[in-house]
Amino acid sequence: MIRRVKGTYDVLPKDNYLWDYLIKQTYGVLNKYQYKEIRTPIFEHSEAFHRDSELSDMVTKETYNFKDRANRDITLRPEGTAGVIRSYVENKLYVEGDLQKLFYFGPNFRYERPQKGRFRQFYQLGVEAIGLTNPYVDAEVIMLCYDIVKSLNLKNISININTIGDNESRINYEKALVDYLTPFYEELSNDSKERLSKNPLRILDSKADNDKEILKNAPLPKDYLSKEASNYFLEVLNILDKEEINYQVVDTLVRGLDYYEHTVFEIEVDSNNLGSHNVLAGGGRYQNLVSEFGGPDLGGVGFAFGVERLLLMLEDNKDDIKDLKEPLVYILPLEENGVAKALEVSKHLRDNGIPTDLSFIKKSFKALLRQGLRSNAKFLIFIGEDELANNKLTIKNTITEEQVTINEDELLSKLGEL
Ligand code: AMP
Repeated sequence: MIRRVKGTYDVLPKDNYLWDYLIKQTYGVLNKYQYKEIRTPIFEHSEAFHRDSELSDMVTKETYNFKDRANRDITLRPEGTAGVIRSYVENKLYVEGDLQKLFYFGPNFRYERPQKGRFRQFYQLGVEAIGLTNPYVDAEVIMLCYDIVKSLNLKNISININTIGDNESRINYEKALVDYLTPFYEELSNDSKERLSKNPLRILDSKADNDKEILKNAPLPKDYLSKEASNYFLEVLNILDKEEINYQVVDTLVRGLDYYEHTVFEIEVDSNNLGSHNVLAGGGRYQNLVSEFGGPDLGGVGFAFGVERLLLMLEDNKDDIKDLKEPLVYILPLEENGVAKALEVSKHLRDNGIPTDLSFIKKSFKALLRQGLRSNAKFLIFIGEDELANNKLTIKNTITEEQVTINEDELLSKLGEL
């Protein structure tokens, strides 16, 4: 037997309704905010992700890289932003207005250690608002992120927010952090040792206990903010206050990617379903990505939700979520020659827009009843000997249990009444 690749999963038909629900709810919110969907390829030229400025583990250690048959270096996307920015620049979307509000939904690939809520192929739903550096845009993006969570009725949510400051703030802060950590070099975890020279900010995210101890007294980004960066952040917070969005400022929050500047944020949930992987979405502002991809000097801000994590959270409310793709009618032939009639009636119903399924095999009444009920259809139609002889149909409403035998040509009107 060939098995699925480690870290991947199948979505079986019976579970798809949760995906449908998630898409319906979230796309509704995105439309209210007038974000437009963009679909970019799942692979790009490797340099779209492997940029000199991007040294996060995700990009350096976890990407799926391969050569195609023409010897091109290709990478499966590990995240959505780079591809969107590549497309924004390549298609010159910046000439179409001062702000492009884009969203994407699709799979990403990271060679990580699989565990609950962490896969090697996983979906993200993300947005990018590109073109303006404006605290109102940051605030609107955070409001949208929060509204998406609310549309799924998720509870115990918090918004964590911080600023890394602008480029100047970041350079000063990184220097201070390196100065502070260098005397502890020998005590740091191997990962942190490596990051100290390459990417010191990432050390703040370290999960190693001893690193955490050392970091307790480390300088924080907020101590090195330029005046402009500090004002920008205060303005974002003021706007959120005015809009009555609850948040917590978390001084140590830096997020996983190297392109962030100014505002960074994440949505955290307090739930047993996710264990330690309780961050549902992460995002922030980036100022240099568009120009790195050869576009004009324009900033953007975005976030991405981990779709599987949202789905794990939906498990709690799943009894309230209806499968919108179930049949309304299920037709059951009790005689061999009833199958043709069942298909004929199905066609009639489908032509009238009614989702209908049928049994292609004649079975006993009991077996057919079980099959019909399992489909969750509201109406079952039985076609037996009498019905066939007299052009009649027997309809059962599975909710009220009411059952009537009608003339075939009354079917549509009776379905409306029952
Ligand atoms: P990131 O792109 O790393 O900022 O992650 C954004 C969100 O994507 C996270 O908060 C998670 O919800 C989700 N995510 C990241 N990596 C994975 C993964 N390997 N499996 C499932 N979800 C993930």
